[in-house]
Amino acid sequence: MPRNLRNDNIVLTSAIHMLMKFGDIRLAESLFQSIKKKDVYTFGVLMNGYNMNDLSMKCFQILEEMIGENVSPNEIIWSVVIGACSQVRMLSRSQHTIDQIPSEILNKKSIQNSLIRMWGKCGSTEKAQNLFESVVDRDAMTYNAMINAFGLNGMGSEATQLYRKMPNNLRDESSHICALNACSHSGLLQEAWSIFNDTPFKTERIFTTMVDCLSRLFLFDEAQNLINEYEKTNKPSVIMYTSLLSGLRNNRNRYLSEKIYNRMKSFFPDQKQDLVAGVILLSNIYSSVGEHELATTFRSDQINYLGKNVKLGLSCTEVNGQLVTFHAHDHSHERSSEIFSEIDRLTSELIAYGYKCDSSWITRRLKEGETDLSVLCGHSERIAIAYNFVEQPDTKFIQITGNLRVCGDCHQAIKLIAKIRQCYIIVSDANRIHHFSPNGQCSCQDHF
Ligand SMILES: [Zn+2]
Ligand SMILES: [Zn+2]
Repeated sequence: MPRNLRNDNIVLTSAIHMLMKFGDIRLAESLFQSIKKKDVYTFGVLMNGYNMNDLSMKCFQILEEMIGENVSPNEIIWSVVIGACSQVRMLSRSQHTIDQIPSEILNKKSIQNSLIRMWGKCGSTEKAQNLFESVVDRDAMTYNAMINAFGLNGMGSEATQLYRKMPNNLRDESSHICALNACSHSGLLQEAWSIFNDTPFKTERIFTTMVDCLSRLFLFDEAQNLINEYEKTNKPSVIMYTSLLSGLRNNRNRYLSEKIYNRMKSFFPDQKQDLVAGVILLSNIYSSVGEHELATTFRSDQINYLGKNVKLGLSCTEVNGQLVTFHAHDHSHERSSEIFSEIDRLTSELIAYGYKCDSSWITRRLKEGETDLSVLCGHSERIAIAYNFVEQPDTKFIQITGNLRVCGDCHQAIKLIAKIRQCYIIVSDANRIHHFSPNGQCSCQDHF
């Protein structure tokens, strides 16, 4: 960069934006640090970059830094921060952040729409709905955000009712998708067909959501027929096949899964990241039917061949205002030994309550000294839950967010933990939000 531009804020801010887009966070950060007089745009671009790169947690620290440097946040900054809250998905953090936003900004419709979306993602349909009711001139985004909030939280009928109530002229592609997703998450098959059939222009995403709905209900013939119908006039779509495979995983349908994965490989040889998702699903299916050897070889051979990395499962939680992230079998936390003793305690309580671990969710070969139970109890969700009990033994509310889908064994265990410890636990996984009540039930009614 020419020397005379190295102190130009506009140029440097654009450079930070570009670096963030390419995922070069380290360089973007060092450029940011080099700017002597940072303005509101410089902070905004850095924070937006964190959101783009799944590092939203860092936005809160930058917000504090910004306020500390007497730069006052404008509407754009608050909108980026709300985006960060939507990604972090923690109720307490979101409430703490929203409390700092001036009321004249909170009253703007675009902010209100983002907030409805955010509360939905944080697991509070109540807060989303209160806000929705207060918006006078609702637009498509207002409705879509609320329908999605209901859908994500397993309130399928509320979502479809609102979709039906929404003025026809406001409905767009997102409205159809949000409503269909809600049906998919709640197993509302008839309602889904009715929405799908009444949708005038069916896009790839609309077809995919319907395929997903059918696959979750194990209606694989109907799902495949729908894919065939789509392919009569369109190029095949990789996400449709991934949705189908995902349903097959829950159904442990080995032969159809192999067929679907092979079709994916021949249709989409260059879509490597999607193929990795397919490999993981198929190897999980092999493990779930007891073919651990085949699962391991298939997985490592295919991943090597595709030359891509597998996404590491992470769980995040917030205790006493601190966000903490764990991966499976994570011993890096300073209270790690207490956390693992708590896991042992929880596991004994679970066993006394009749829990038997379901080894079909183990997706790799056991290492020396490991048992089915020790592998499953080391999943990141359980570490995050145990950590909450270590920090606050009598806690009555725990919130966990994860970047993958929660496994069936953890789902079963968390239902019991909520009951035994009489604690309300919210787990937002990559796909939906589970509300585990102290009565031992989950809001998804095991439909996940
Ligand atoms: Zn698990
Ligand atoms: Zn659930």
